[in-house]
Amino acid sequence: GVSLHERTRVLRLDAGSPNVLITPGGRIRTEEVVVAVNAAAAGWGPTRRRLTNFGSYVVLTEPRPDLVEEIGWTGGEAITDGRMFVHYFRTTPDGRVLMGSGSGPIGFGGRLDGRFSNDLPTAARAEAGLRTLLPGLDEARVECAWGGPIDVSADRLPFFGTVPDSRVHYGAGYSGHGAGPSWLGGQILASLALRADDEWTALPLVTRKVPRLVPEPIKGLGGAVVRAATLAVEDAAADGREAALPVRAVAALPRLVGMRIGQR
Ligand SMILES: Cc1cc2nc3c(=O)[nH]c(=O)nc-3n(C[C@H](O)[C@H](O)[C@H](O)COP(=O)(O)OP(=O)(O)OC[C@H]3O[C@@H](n4cnc5c(N)ncnc54)[C@H](O)[C@@H]3O)c2cc1C
Repeated sequence: GVSLHERTRVLRLDAGSPNVLITPGGRIRTEEVVVAVNAAAAGWGPTRRRLTNFGSYVVLTEPRPDLVEEIGWTGGEAITDGRMFVHYFRTTPDGRVLMGSGSGPIGFGGRLDGRFSNDLPTAARAEAGLRTLLPGLDEARVECAWGGPIDVSADRLPFFGTVPDSRVHYGAGYSGHGAGPSWLGGQILASLALRADDEWTALPLVTRKVPRLVPEPIKGLGGAVVRAATLAVEDAAADGREAALPVRAVAALPRLVGMRIGQR
């Protein structure tokens, strides 16, 4: 058997043989370390240049199975729209509707501050999406909202690996879509920790070269400008308008420089 120490923050990792993990309550010495810390990986040396953080926020309605049935949404389908700052929505078994907006702030230097967990503007955008996209739910009250940071990689795919000359393994970059793929990530990380050469470690998610992002402060500050422009372009399009040319030009920058992140 093994002991699990949940809710124990790792303050520092000293890679070596053994690796040493410093926590508030003591030190852990271990041969193998798996770093699977989601958005926090954007602030960790080995993965920092391949990740940035975006905020994502959801609102949840009261149970209204009557309205959900009225609009014929009874198959439990999960839906997204085609925006860069996507709306994602689904029903729950008790007849609520959850509407999310992946339009939260962009991070800076991997700092996970209150901007991600107390993000009223993005909650408002999620609610606006609910009212616009699902008018049949107009009478359904929003009961709660929550959100947090996501770990976005430069090609929006997760990546896995081992820090060179160490037994420290990592997996990150689910880019807001990790609920299912983190199962696959678990298989890959288990194989890396067991030093296996198998179907999991041979996947391109492990072997491909992950594009790097620009360093800070360009990543955070430039990203914030492109984000604002992209939001303005998408909001204008949703209203049947075209945003001003300079705004569209800024929103087109990621595509022009061949980046898959931040593109419309
Ligand atoms: C509002 C919102 C909605 C989302 N909706 C969807 C969705 O509809 N579908 C989807 O597929 N994905 C969605 N996601 C993304 C999904 O939640 C993640 O991709 C997924 O949880 C990643 O799994 P993980 O195991 O990598 O990280 P997590 O499940 O977040 O686990 C990482 C763990 O590491 C811990 N940790 C971090 N730093 C330290 C440290 N220093 N020491 C110790 N522990 C640490 C954290 O506390 C956490 O428990 C959403 C995310 C948000 C914020």
